[in-house]
Amino acid sequence: MDDFDFENRIVDPSEIMIDNEGENPLRPRCMNDYIGQEKVKENLSVFIEAAKRRRETLDHVLLYGPPGLGKTTLAGIVANEMNVNLRITSGPAIEKPGDLAALLTNLNEGDVLFIDEIHRISRAVEEVLYPSMEDFAIDIITGKGQMAASYHLPLPKFTLVGATTRAGQLTAPLRDRFGVVLRLELYTPEELAKIITRSASILDIQIDGDGALEIASRSRGTPRIANRLLKRVRDFAEVISDGVITCETAQIALDKLEIDELGLDANDRRMLEALIKFYRGGPVGLETLAAAIGEEAVTIEDVYEPYLMQIGFLNRTPRGRCITRAACQHLGYELPNAQDAQITFDQTE
Ligand code: ADP
Repeated sequence: MDDFDFENRIVDPSEIMIDNEGENPLRPRCMNDYIGQEKVKENLSVFIEAAKRRRETLDHVLLYGPPGLGKTTLAGIVANEMNVNLRITSGPAIEKPGDLAALLTNLNEGDVLFIDEIHRISRAVEEVLYPSMEDFAIDIITGKGQMAASYHLPLPKFTLVGATTRAGQLTAPLRDRFGVVLRLELYTPEELAKIITRSASILDIQIDGDGALEIASRSRGTPRIANRLLKRVRDFAEVISDGVITCETAQIALDKLEIDELGLDANDRRMLEALIKFYRGGPVGLETLAAAIGEEAVTIEDVYEPYLMQIGFLNRTPRGRCITRAACQHLGYELPNAQDAQITFDQTE
């Protein structure tokens, strides 16, 4: 089997080392620079404006959608537009209720607390989060037995912005405590081309419209991947076309990076081929498929699937995952077990 580099997969929408070269200059700071997600922007702008007029803090906001779509960025924009500070943490980083208490008591009035991967906070922490979101107070118990003492600690009013890749995994009481719930969608190639053009101008990279669109169409609907590919294509452009990214340069570079014209890399192809070869195109259960390609089920759900489903290459059915005719054609395979598969398609498409 080929040796796949899961750790630094260039089309992985999660954050990897190369994205974090110091403070990210590509992150939009205000709503006007935030491209796409029109519905989300429109609603959020109204809520921000209304809260400002009433001189209140913004209601708690839950953002959900696949990684790399701009949830952290949006939290920063909310803080910026509300003229308050932003504190960033993540579900797994808040290990104990005391960690959360420390974070909350250090906030200033109106601040935005961003909790990434909020579905991963523990039950014990969640219990402290409820009253702090609702009543802006926490109860802390110190000591044990007869020495136990309980303190009621008022907190400054703050806005919690929670981000999750899977809203379904949040407990209902937690979800219900968010006044605003917004779902981020994958971006269109045209929107991504705008993001790439903006990033190119910040990074002082010369790129033409076709070059931007070429990179955009291979970026899996995800700004983080678009920015990452832009930086890699720039390296090729410097060597082969005097630093200017044209459509042709982008094509050459992305072919060399083994990202095909739809943005699929070797890992996607391997998963789809496993579906065809081992499971006659499906349906196959997520766990079984994950085991077959030596990948975690959550990674398949968060990283591979959103885009493959968006481009119509994969269907989720009650009986499991199925490949589609379009995916087989793209990979140069016959649709396996065509008759059975056809039934599946008819049911799901
Ligand atoms: P998430 O928190 O959803 O994983 P981020 O907010 O960290 O994603 O976004 C990843 C990167 O993509 C950011 O650094 C930013 O440069 C870029 N980005 C995301 N959304 C947009 C957007 N709407 N417009 C421009 N750039 C964006």
